[in-house]
Amino acid sequence: LARNPNQPEFHQAVQEVLETLEPVLERHPEWVKAGIMDRLVEPERQIMFRVPWVDDNGNVQVNRGFRVQFNSAIGPYKGGIRFHPSVNLSIIKFLGFEQIFKNSLTTLPIGGGKGGSDFDPKGKSDREIMAFCQSFMTELSKHIGADTDVPAGDIGVGGREIGFMYGQYKRLRNEFTGVLTGKGLGWGGSLARTEATGFGLCYFMREALAANGKSFKGATTVISGSGNVAIYAAEKATEFGAKVVAMSDSNGYIYDANGIDLKLIHELKEVKRARIKEYVTVHPEAKYVEGCRNIWDVKCDIALPCATQNEIDEESAKKLIANGTWAVGEGANMPSTNQAIAVYQNAKIIFGPAKAANAGGVATSALEMSQNSQRLEWTFEEVDAKLQQIMKSIYNAAASAAEEYTGDKNNLVAGANIAGFVKVAKAMYAQGIV
Ligand code: NDP
Repeated sequence: LARNPNQPEFHQAVQEVLETLEPVLERHPEWVKAGIMDRLVEPERQIMFRVPWVDDNGNVQVNRGFRVQFNSAIGPYKGGIRFHPSVNLSIIKFLGFEQIFKNSLTTLPIGGGKGGSDFDPKGKSDREIMAFCQSFMTELSKHIGADTDVPAGDIGVGGREIGFMYGQYKRLRNEFTGVLTGKGLGWGGSLARTEATGFGLCYFMREALAANGKSFKGATTVISGSGNVAIYAAEKATEFGAKVVAMSDSNGYIYDANGIDLKLIHELKEVKRARIKEYVTVHPEAKYVEGCRNIWDVKCDIALPCATQNEIDEESAKKLIANGTWAVGEGANMPSTNQAIAVYQNAKIIFGPAKAANAGGVATSALEMSQNSQRLEWTFEEVDAKLQQIMKSIYNAAASAAEEYTGDKNNLVAGANIAGFVKVAKAMYAQGIV
């Protein structure tokens, strides 16, 4: 880690994984000898590049672009692209590192990678977004490909941005391939991809809850964020009988004791791209509270953090427990600090860690790749059925690895890390020192 100073998020993600892998490495001294761990924490390739573009006032703006191709032992690099002003190498590396294990858990042949830029899409015109995306892809296109590295969306990158980037890739390469996932329907996109991470989170939690004699039915639920993951988690949780009472954006949260009006959230966030506080202009009986972290003060049975990394610290975790929360499922990547996870574990609540619980998005991206290769389109029902099956098998793999290595099937943190790691380690071992 001394080799990577000033990368706190990356250190945090590595520490969380390494702590749980000790019992596996004890059984496999040959993996230690083959340097599997030393190689695993070093990305195969890291690309950083200048992204110049012209804003609506005619001024030149310069952002920084990243693509970290972390591990290709079991398939082409796969992982999203994030546009957010906080993006730096540490954040992209933590996300890329986690992606290795998550992608392995999906049971599909995909390696780990991640990318993004410190570009802030908020408040930009469509033309500015397009100018940025085209410049970003002009460089990125040299490093990706349908059999090499297949990026997708993440924070700040949805259907609009994928469209602009795909258009530019196609123009540069003169080929129509599945080089990006999250594409629009009718030009290579998969039905159910938009919903997949949020739906998958609920499918995963359904298994984890059922194993403990619980369910979403009647559970008061708080979901942070109001983006792609949060919206569809809220939809599926509601369908499963939960009452979602609070959602947020980076400015604050809304609380609606009657249950959040999801149609309005769709309209505000996906169509108008407005702030969540506008919810109370339509529902004055609801309340808006400034400060997104305060959402964890809201009393709930189930908490689904779906916004960003480290949004639940030790203090927020203690508040959840004091308020009687009995399950946490991570839709976002690394939303809980390692100290917060320790609080959940001490309180013995049901905890679905991100690597397993939010893997439905990338799994469905891999299903999009399969459809692109076949030049076929599957129905929503077909994709959704596969997603449900995958989330169930991820739960089973994590629970059985947890049982085998820790004696506690509910230790899904260890279970997900171990189940994801073993497949990658076997592949790396078989492929020699590369
Ligand atoms: P979106 O950009 O669609 O939504 C992000 C949401 O989180 C918005 O409501 C945003 O508020 C809020 N948010 C973002 N950054 C912060 C911050 N620093 N502090 C507080 N709130 C913040 O992103 P996604 O829904 O796609 O991603 C959410 C999380 O899920 C991320 O951790 C991502 O890595 C993870 N994830 C996403 C997958 C996907 O398929 N999209 C797959 C697996 C994981 P505002 O609008 O105010 O910025």
